[in-house]
Amino acid sequence: MANDKRVRHILSLSGGKDSAALALYMRDRVPEMEYIFSDTRKELPETYEYLERISSYLGKEVTRLNADVGFDHWYEMYGGMIPSNHRRWCTRALKLKPFEQHCGSDEVVNYVGLRADEERSGYISHKPNIKPVYPFKEDGLILRDIEEILRSSGVGMPPYTKWGRTRSGCYFCFYQQKIEWVRLKETHPDLYDKAKAYEKPYEKTGNFFTWSQGESLTEMEQPARVEQIKREHVIRIERKVARKENATLREVFAEADRGEQPDEDDDQGCLVCHL
Ligand code: SF4
Repeated sequence: MANDKRVRHILSLSGGKDSAALALYMRDRVPEMEYIFSDTRKELPETYEYLERISSYLGKEVTRLNADVGFDHWYEMYGGMIPSNHRRWCTRALKLKPFEQHCGSDEVVNYVGLRADEERSGYISHKPNIKPVYPFKEDGLILRDIEEILRSSGVGMPPYTKWGRTRSGCYFCFYQQKIEWVRLKETHPDLYDKAKAYEKPYEKTGNFFTWSQGESLTEMEQPARVEQIKREHVIRIERKVARKENATLREVFAEADRGEQPDEDDDQGCLVCHL
């Protein structure tokens, strides 16, 4: 008997440029595509604005997952533990699980926006009914192609890149570089303060964690420390210029600001949140 089980095609938007470009790229290739966004409720306002822009271009709703529970629910469940690279409960609870629940036991083709010019590995679902595909890799599309897709569509780059944030995801994401914390403070002081509010002993367990390794946000926002972080950022960029024979200073700054080459010891983030 023929297997007539319907296959669903799902593209998960993160609020980042690569998944956005993939959505635009696939719009006419897979008209039945479902677009989803796993909302932590702690995203940057610019991300929500960007999703609206993408949705208008697609002419389709972007389904928000986690309608009922966001980061704070899970933060409580994990006893006030701020996530980190080594305690990364957030990606699983807020991004991966809701996605897997949304797929259920259906056969799903999951479209992932990894480019042909990068070697990032993924934190993606390994459920046997969810098959990842990588159209940019398959079609050989690299960064400049992605930028062109975004530019020519009018959707453009994610708006938070204008103030130097390199990644999508929660405003307090522990993957951000120290220079990005400084920029968050300058651009969204209210969000910086909200992030800071998590850095206190959790009343039920006494747990105390910081978002950025080795220092609290209160320490980081001191004027002398801010100046130091900015100075160190410039020095790193200059070193990069010296290493890259053919790159101009402007190109390297632009590259770092796009998040192509994080300028601190920095894990590669995760495909679910930052693609
Ligand atoms: S963006 Fe960062 S903090 Fe938010 S869920 Fe993803 S890894 Fe966790």
